[in-house]
Amino acid sequence: MLEDTSLRMTRQRRVILEELRAVTSHPTADEMYEMVRRRLPKVSLGTVYRNLEILAESGVVLKIDVGGTKKRFDGNVAVHHHLRCVACGRVDDVELDPGVDLEALAAARTDYDILRHRLEFVGVCPACKAKEG
Ligand SMILES: [Zn+2]
Ligand SMILES: [Zn+2]
Repeated sequence: MLEDTSLRMTRQRRVILEELRAVTSHPTADEMYEMVRRRLPKVSLGTVYRNLEILAESGVVLKIDVGGTKKRFDGNVAVHHHLRCVACGRVDDVELDPGVDLEALAAARTDYDILRHRLEFVGVCPACKAKEG
C-alpha cells in the first residue's frame, strides 16, 4: 500500500481529491466525473475511475460498498458509519458514540483477531419521508 506522502499528486488527482472532500454525498465514479469535468473539461471517465482507485488504494479516500450496485467514494477517512436510504439510494454519515468499541466487544467474545468491521444502517431519508407524507 502506498503512503499518503509518496502518492504523486497530478493536477487531475488533486482536483478529484478536492471535489470529493468538498461533498458529503458519497458520489459514485460517474458522479465524480460530472463534478471534475466542470473544472477539467478534457478529463476522461477512465482517468477519473483510475485516479479514484489509486486514491482509495493509498488510503487517501475511502471506497465504500454500501448495498446498491455501484461503488461510492468518501473523502472522509475518519471512523464513521453510513446510512442508506432504501427509497432514493442516498448515503449519509452517522457518527456513533466512540465509547462503543464494537471490535473490542467482538474480540472479547470470540477467539478472533478482529481486523475491521462493516456496519450499515438502512432507512428512509427525510426527503423521501416528506414525499411519502
Ligand atoms: Zn431518500
Ligand atoms: Zn461517509
